[in-house]
Amino acid sequence: MAVIGIMSAMHEELAAVLACLPDEQRVAVAGREFWLGHWQGHAVVAVLSRIGKVAAATTATVLIERFHVDTLVFTGVAGGMGSGVRVGDVVVANGFVQHDMDASPLFPRHEVPLYGRARFETDANLSAQLAEAGQQVLAQAAQHLGAGTLAEFQLDSPRVHQGLVISGDRFVATSTESQALRLALPDALAVEMEGAAVAQVCHDYAVPFAAVRTISDRADDAAHTDFNRFIREVASRYSLAILSQWLTNRPPD
Ligand code: SAH
Repeated sequence: MAVIGIMSAMHEELAAVLACLPDEQRVAVAGREFWLGHWQGHAVVAVLSRIGKVAAATTATVLIERFHVDTLVFTGVAGGMGSGVRVGDVVVANGFVQHDMDASPLFPRHEVPLYGRARFETDANLSAQLAEAGQQVLAQAAQHLGAGTLAEFQLDSPRVHQGLVISGDRFVATSTESQALRLALPDALAVEMEGAAVAQVCHDYAVPFAAVRTISDRADDAAHTDFNRFIREVASRYSLAILSQWLTNRPPD
C-alpha cells in the first residue's frame, strides 16, 4: 500500500490531522515524533516539519528514508507576495526557489550549486489534485470556518492560486524586505521558510511532492498581527479540509 507523508508546518495543523487518525502510533526519530496511521483508508505518516529549511529538510529525509513515503504533501502558512494574493487565499506551489541562496559570482543568484538550477518543481498531478481540493473547500469557506470568522478576518471570496513559492530562513515582516524580494523574484506568489528545502529533498529522492499554503499575512509591516489566531481559526481548518477533500477525491491505493 502506498504511504502518504503529511508534513504540517504548524502544531495546530498537525493536531487537527492527528484527530483524524484513529489508530496512530508514535515513532520518535531525530528528536521528532512521527505518527503512523490511516486516514480515509490511506496509510499516512504525519509529522511537524519544524521551522526553517534545515529542520524541514531533515524531517523530509526521515519521512523518505525511514518511513518510505511514496508521496509527500506539505501544508502551512505563508506571506502573500503576488498582487491579488490576499490573506485567507490559498497558494498551491508549482515550484520553489530559495530566495536567500546566493553563491554569486560563482553561480547565478538563487542557483543551488551543483544542481544547475534555482527552481525545484512540485509534482504536476499532485499539485493539480490539491488545487482542485482547495477550490472545493474555498467554495464552501463559510461552512468550514463559520460566517463569524470570515467576517472577523474580512475574508471575502477567498481564491486558490498556483505558482512560484519562495523560501528562506527569515520571517519576512517588513515592506522593505518584501519589496526587495518582489524585485528579485517577480513571479513569486508567496514567501515562507521551508518549502524549497523539502522540494529539493524530494527532487533528490524522486518522491512526488506538493505543497499548499494558506496566506496568513502580506509579508509587510503588519505581518505579525493576529498570526496565532489566524492559524487556529483559519489556516489549520483550511489545511485539514483540503487534505481531507484531497483524500476523498483520491482513488483508493
Ligand atoms: N508561532 C509559530 C512560528 C511561526 S514561524 C510556531 O510557534 O510554530 C513562521 C511560519 O510561517 C513558518 O512556517 C513560515 O514558513 C510561515 N510564514 C508565514 N508568513 C511568513 C512570512 N511573511 N515570511 C516567512 N515565513 C512566513
